[in-house]
Amino acid sequence: MSIKVLVVEDEEAISHLLKYNLTAEGFEVSVVDDGDEALMAAEDFQPDIILLDWMLPNVSGIEICRQLRARSETRDIPVIMLTARAEEEDRLRGFDKGADDYVTKPFSMKELVARIHAVLRRTNPAATGNVVTFGDIVLDRETMRVTRGSVTVTLGPTEFRLLETLIKRPGRVYSREQLLDRVWGQDIYVESRTVDVHIGRLRKALNKGGLVDPIRTVRASGYALDETYSG
Ligand code: CA
Repeated sequence: MSIKVLVVEDEEAISHLLKYNLTAEGFEVSVVDDGDEALMAAEDFQPDIILLDWMLPNVSGIEICRQLRARSETRDIPVIMLTARAEEEDRLRGFDKGADDYVTKPFSMKELVARIHAVLRRTNPAATGNVVTFGDIVLDRETMRVTRGSVTVTLGPTEFRLLETLIKRPGRVYSREQLLDRVWGQDIYVESRTVDVHIGRLRKALNKGGLVDPIRTVRASGYALDETYSG
């Protein structure tokens, strides 16, 4: 699964350019053009990073940044502000509202991509490296291999993606619908109990030999990795 970038930009020329170039760099890109959509997409698309234009219609980028930081669902997503304003005062105001970095238009793609990687390294090492660990569970995105302790866990592609989704944010509860969107994709119709079936398979593979179950079932809500599990 590639790094997901949400672009919030109302100028089509710029958003097209960003989508084209960032996709070519291997990112998965979603574009929205106003603040309300940005807040919805931040929850639904669950980006690893948000590129947020400062000057947007209706609600400003700064206000959106403030709202992203106020919600537990989106609080931890790093934000790079894109702006035509270069004044130092504005720059400080952007950071004050919780932006992680700041890129002034016009910018070079090379510079922007470097900034994205720098911010991700700083804020979310799990998103940039191929290897994610949780307790004694190690997931390698590149080789699609999972181990628990010294044992290799054999997973199908769906179970791999389920674990990959859960392991990104231990403790966060995902509803069946959210897991369907993230693992199966938004355009595919799958019954929600399919999620239960695949969670069952994931558990079976992961806990083979009677190991402690690191997945928590949250009644009427969904599933999460148990953040108290330490392997
Ligand atoms: Ca704009």
